Amino acid sequence: MSKIRYERPVIKKLETGMPNKFGTRMDYEPVTHIDGHSVAKLVKEYGSPLFVISEKIIRSTIKKAKRAFETLYPKVQFAWSYKTNYLNAICSIFHQEGSWAEVVSGFEYDKAIGMGIDGRKIIFNGPDKSEKDLTKAIKNDSLIHIDHLDELYTITELAELLQKRPRVAIRVNMDTGVYPIWDRFGFNYENGQAWDALNKIMHSGKMELVGLHCHIGTFMLSPHAYGVAATKLAELALSVEHKFKHEIKYIDLGGGFASKNTLKGSYLPGADTSPSFNDFAEAISTALLNSNFQKDKLPLLILETGRALIDEAGYLLGTVISNKRSSTGRRNTILDIGVNILFTSFWYDHKITPAQSFTQYTEDTCVYGPLCMNIDVIRESTSLPLLNKGEHVVIHSVGAYNMTQWMQFITLRPNILLIDMDEKLHVIRTEESLANMNSMENIPEHLRKIN
Ligand SMILES: *Cc1c(COP(=O)(O)O)cnc(C)c1O
Repeated sequence: MSKIRYERPVIKKLETGMPNKFGTRMDYEPVTHIDGHSVAKLVKEYGSPLFVISEKIIRSTIKKAKRAFETLYPKVQFAWSYKTNYLNAICSIFHQEGSWAEVVSGFEYDKAIGMGIDGRKIIFNGPDKSEKDLTKAIKNDSLIHIDHLDELYTITELAELLQKRPRVAIRVNMDTGVYPIWDRFGFNYENGQAWDALNKIMHSGKMELVGLHCHIGTFMLSPHAYGVAATKLAELALSVEHKFKHEIKYIDLGGGFASKNTLKGSYLPGADTSPSFNDFAEAISTALLNSNFQKDKLPLLILETGRALIDEAGYLLGTVISNKRSSTGRRNTILDIGVNILFTSFWYDHKITPAQSFTQYTEDTCVYGPLCMNIDVIRESTSLPLLNKGEHVVIHSVGAYNMTQWMQFITLRPNILLIDMDEKLHVIRTEESLANMNSMENIPEHLRKIN
C-alpha cells in the first residue's frame, strides 16, 4: 500500500461562482490512463503539452452517428468537415469510414485531392473560391456549393471556357427559429434570394444543379431547427422539380450538431444537455419523409458534421508549472497549456482532470496558461484539488478546431499522438522546432550583421 500524501489543511473562502443544483463539487476520479496508456509515461516520452487522439473513440462515434441516421432515412452520406480537424491521419480515418470530404478553401481542396479522394466526392463550400480553385473543382467534377452571385457568374463563365457542366448546389440561409440568423453565407430563403439564384442557374443551362445546402449554425442545441431547415430545403427542391422538371439529387444539412462540451455560462454540463445523434436524426428524417417527395425520389441526405464527431476523441495532456495566490487570495494554477493551443477555451468550460490520485480537499481555482499575456486563461473558475508543480492534468474534448485554429505564438506547437485500435502509438504530427520556423524566414543581406 502506498503512503497517503500529507497535505496541509486549508481555510476555504467561499467564492460565488456559477451555481448549479450540484453545487461546485468536483465529482470525478483522476484520469491516469488514456486507452491503456499512462498519462505520466506519455508525457515523459512525447513531451508536455501533448495532444492525444483516440482512434477507437473516433470510429465508434462516426459509427453511432451513421447508425442513428441510416435507421431513420434510406440514403445518408457523411462528408468530413476538414476545417474541424484536417490532420491527414484523422481525415484518413473518416474516409475509411466512408465519409466524403467537405472543404472551404483551395488549401483544403488540395489537401483532400492529396489524400487521394475522388474529386466527385469533394464538397467545396465557403465564400472564397478563386478562379483557379473553381477550375480545378470543375475539371474534377466536384460538388461546388455556390455562396454568392459573383461566384455564380464566375462559374457560368468558366463552364463556357472549359466546355464542362459544373455540378453545383447553392447554400441557403434561413430563419430556423435560432437567433441570430447566420445570413452572411449563401442566399436567403425568406426574401427570395435563394429562389432567384436557382432560377438563374436553371435558365442559364450551363450548370448541373444537383443539390441544396445549408449550414444553419454551430454548436446547435436545437434538433427542431434542423427539422425547419430540412422542410424549407425540401420545399425549394420540389419547386425546382415542379417548374423545371428537374430532380434535385441531394439535400445537405451541413454541420453544427453540438458536441458534449460545456458552453461558457451554461447552467448544466454539456454531457447532460447536448442532444444525441438520434435526436437530430429524428428531426431531420421526419421533416424529409413528411415533405412531398415521391417515395422513389427521396433525395440523398448529406451531413457535414464536424465537432460532434471528433471533440470527445481528443485530449490535451499538460503539466503544472506553479501555484500561486491572487491578490484576493484565490488559488491560481499555471499549466503549460495555453490558449495558443487550446483555442476552444475561449467558448468552452473544458473539463480538466488531474492525472494522478488526489486528496479530498478541493478549492476554487483559476487555471492559467504559460503565455506572458493576460488573456491566457484556460478556466476562470473550477473546483480542483491541489495540483503540485510537475503533476499532470488531462483536458477533455479538445478534438475539434484546436488542431486547426491553434497558433504559433510565444511557444512552439506540440506533438500530436494517435492511439490506434490496437492501442499502438503513432506521432501523427511532429512538434515544431526553431528550425521549422526559421526555414520560412529570410534575413536581407544588409541585416545579417548585428554588430
Ligand atoms: C464548419 C462547417 C461545418 C462543420 O461544423 P461543425 O460545427 O464542426 O459540425 C460543416 N459545414 C460547413 C459549411 C462549415 O462551415
